[in-house]
Amino acid sequence: MVSVLRLGHRPERDERMTTHVGLTARAFGADTFYIPEMDTGIKETLEDVSQRFGGDLCASEVEDWKRLVTEWNGDVIHLTMYGQDINEFFEEMGDEIKEPLIIVGAEKVPREVYERADHNVSVGNQPHSEVAALAVFLDRLNEREIPPFPDGKMKIVPRKEGKSVIDRSEIPDLDKCLEFMFERDMDEGLMKHTFSVLDRTVELYLEHGGDLELLMAGALLHDIGRTVTHEVEHGIEGSRLIREKGWSKDLARMVERHIGGGITKKEAAEQGLPERDMVPETLEEKIICHADNTAGGEERLRDMIERTKEAGYKESAERMKKLADEFEENICYKNNQ
Ligand code: SAM
Repeated sequence: MVSVLRLGHRPERDERMTTHVGLTARAFGADTFYIPEMDTGIKETLEDVSQRFGGDLCASEVEDWKRLVTEWNGDVIHLTMYGQDINEFFEEMGDEIKEPLIIVGAEKVPREVYERADHNVSVGNQPHSEVAALAVFLDRLNEREIPPFPDGKMKIVPRKEGKSVIDRSEIPDLDKCLEFMFERDMDEGLMKHTFSVLDRTVELYLEHGGDLELLMAGALLHDIGRTVTHEVEHGIEGSRLIREKGWSKDLARMVERHIGGGITKKEAAEQGLPERDMVPETLEEKIICHADNTAGGEERLRDMIERTKEAGYKESAERMKKLADEFEENICYKNNQ
């Protein structure tokens, strides 16, 4: 358990800075954030962030910080520019740090903090900020692993460009997906295929990662549009049904993009479909597309590639192969070319 104590908070001017200390503590895996005078605004902000993005940082007002420090059952580590060098500290202490209480100050920290702390540690001997010092220290404590927050409603998907946020509250769980499949009267053959796509999806997830909740819902509902039509439009129809339910846009997009190797805007126009890009882009979209192409084994993939080529969609067949290259080490079509 890692705790952070923020000293010297001045309610009239430090609200933003102290909130950032709390956010940094949370993001780098602290369990408890203590401050002697907890502004309600700070507590609310931290709780709101945890509710949306996960984790359960406990933000707590501590009446007597001197007592907290004196009675602390673990290592009290005070971050200060005057302290022992951080590298030296971690070399000396290594794995021996127990239940750390990390103290950061504001303008001036009382002398007794230096005296009561088990360790005074500096992150470089230049003056900078409590947020920077805390972030660097926690990063070292975590051995440079950024902790995950798997239980957040909102999940930010790292991207080189643009923003991608998955809102989990809009992703139907297993029960809701099954209920909808029955409500739409999916036939037995389609159910069987759906479950083998789910199987494949889990295999691919275990090897390549992704957002499991989104993947499960995507696998179960990828062909829900076939309850409307078995034509190529079934992706678009499935996406419409999901949007009508008010469910996740990411899920709707995933269902729309699962056909073959995806459909480009140009191909959509040629086929009389709505002119938009329906090629899988995200990891999850690609996994569902590839799981659907390989749910019956390599044979199905080779078949689908052949049929797609014969139908005149050479580029789409190439995209299917490219997906296979991305996800599989050895796949038979390579030997059959
Ligand atoms: N004189 C202060 C000190 O002891 O580091 C600088 C005050 S600074 C505005 C506020 C807080 O930032 C400090 O109480 C300390 O926790 C942290 N801090 C600033 N520079 C630091 C450094 N180089 N190493 C470790 N902590 C630092």
